[in-house]
Amino acid sequence: MRAAEELRRILRRIDGRGYKTYKDIEGVYNCGEYVLFVDHVQGDPFASPSRVRVQVPQKVAGFPEDAYHNKSREIALRDFLTRRFFDASTNFCKGRRGTGKSGIISIDRPGQEILERSSAFVTEPYVEVRFVMGLPAFGRTVAGRHAEAMFFEELPQIVRASLFFKHLDESTLYEHIEVAEDADFLRKQLVHLGLVAFVADEAILPRASGVDSRPLTGGRVVPFESPESLRVKVILPNRGAISGMGIPKGVTLVVGGGYHGKSTLVRALELGVYDHIPGDGREFVVTNPYAVKIRAEDGRRIEKVDISPFINNLPFGQNTGAFSTEDASGSTSQATNIIEALEVGVQLLLIDEDTSATNFMIRDHRMQELVSKDKEPITPFIDKVRQLYRDIRVSTILVIGGSGDYFDVADRVLCMVEYKPYDRTKEARAIAKKHTAERKSEGGKHFGGISERIPLAHSFDPSKGRREVKISSKGLQSIAFGTHKIDLGAIGQLVDKSQTRAIGDAIYYATRYMDGRRTLKKIVDAVLRDMEEGLDVLNPRPVGDYAMFRGLELAAAANRLRTLSVRQKRIKEMTNDE
Ligand code: ADP
Ligand code: MG
Repeated sequence: MRAAEELRRILRRIDGRGYKTYKDIEGVYNCGEYVLFVDHVQGDPFASPSRVRVQVPQKVAGFPEDAYHNKSREIALRDFLTRRFFDASTNFCKGRRGTGKSGIISIDRPGQEILERSSAFVTEPYVEVRFVMGLPAFGRTVAGRHAEAMFFEELPQIVRASLFFKHLDESTLYEHIEVAEDADFLRKQLVHLGLVAFVADEAILPRASGVDSRPLTGGRVVPFESPESLRVKVILPNRGAISGMGIPKGVTLVVGGGYHGKSTLVRALELGVYDHIPGDGREFVVTNPYAVKIRAEDGRRIEKVDISPFINNLPFGQNTGAFSTEDASGSTSQATNIIEALEVGVQLLLIDEDTSATNFMIRDHRMQELVSKDKEPITPFIDKVRQLYRDIRVSTILVIGGSGDYFDVADRVLCMVEYKPYDRTKEARAIAKKHTAERKSEGGKHFGGISERIPLAHSFDPSKGRREVKISSKGLQSIAFGTHKIDLGAIGQLVDKSQTRAIGDAIYYATRYMDGRRTLKKIVDAVLRDMEEGLDVLNPRPVGDYAMFRGLELAAAANRLRTLSVRQKRIKEMTNDE
């Protein structure tokens, strides 16, 4: 380890010289209060900024053990430190100066969710933060004096303000940790309570706008209020007693007039697999961690998926037991999205009519008369949703304002009226009795088999040009894997581009388990098991901008690689009787 003064000497020496001389500062420095790691120096002022780490020993940082003594707390504290470091860098870093990215000090920026991230770590010996610095230049000439100011004036202030316990607001810090711990506790309680989701009374579900996930504010926000019949009380470890709507397992319909808050409720449930920051409004909206939002996704590629539970007798005798296409339709894509989720262990399906294929959801009596079953390949979801629960124990929460035929297959019916849910199950049952649906059930006796698939390693080629491995993410919704693009636009439960980045690298990591025998589920499980050690297993170098993802999204991404090739495994028939 070099002394900090050595860094200063180098910066003064290379001042005014070519940008490449910055390479000389790569290394580890003892800065007294902390250790500085200059891991990677950028090649030029326009390239991705240089990667830097700081480790503050706990005798200086001073975080009490109870701030990180279990997984929930540790992740929340790391998230908190990342946010504080971000704030401090905007306060103390003078920002851009010179060419390109010159002058910036920046860290991964979390949103409304609290996620495990590789930007910050808290251990007994030290606190570590990973960030980037744009080493300053004018043209391509080293601006050594500016670099010196960044390392010796700005950075120490940022570190002190954000990584020293004594300089942080203790009550804000503990609130952050306790909210996350409570939410994790609540999510774990769902199983014991026989629930798939919980929405706290007083929760704020609507968002500021379609592109701003902060809570909606102002006088017209209606706080959530559970119907009496579904109200559940839970005692949380920190907050104590809370009440809210418990949605039991089974089939739940969300109905109600247009613009009365149905989609907003389901969107909150989709994101209830994650913890939210204090003040978000959805802190105590939690969902079964294996919940998947399902939507139609026409245009996607499909590789040998057994969609026969939903679709049969396609034109030209196309095989739906191992269905492949380069360009799926709305209904085949929606069926595929369900089957692929079942393959990797989904427990709750979340479906919104707004993003569903109508012909996948429903086929009414009149249409059944006009187009006979043998001319219609699709068995609509309405005829399968009960079997899904009975045979495979997969629950569904479904927004459907447009078809009362679903009353026959629902365990409960929630009606949204002016943003408040009412339990209208009894009325719906009575109506179903009075006007018996004339449609015939087309679903057969059982849901049908789920045939698992074995991904073949050769179909995952991360190379591009002379690079053996070239994987990058473009924002939230796209991964460039070698020469191929993976489109994640329909994966609604990804919330952070650092998740996307991690998934890109995790797909490559997963290839080590593709031995021609393991199923996709087994492979995803193996990757997640390794990742219990942390996100760092994905990369030999320290990376500061990974965020944790679920196996369900990893599988979803692999399934959308357009070169994917699989072998199907024998069908496992599921025939529970209710
Ligand atoms: P639906 O799916 O029933 O047509 P949405 O969920 O799309 O309705 O909601 C319609 C509008 O109402 C959206 O702009 C949404 O932000 C707003 N909204 C939803 N819930 C609330 C609420 N609790 N308070 C105030 N506005 C809300
Ligand atoms: Mg809607």
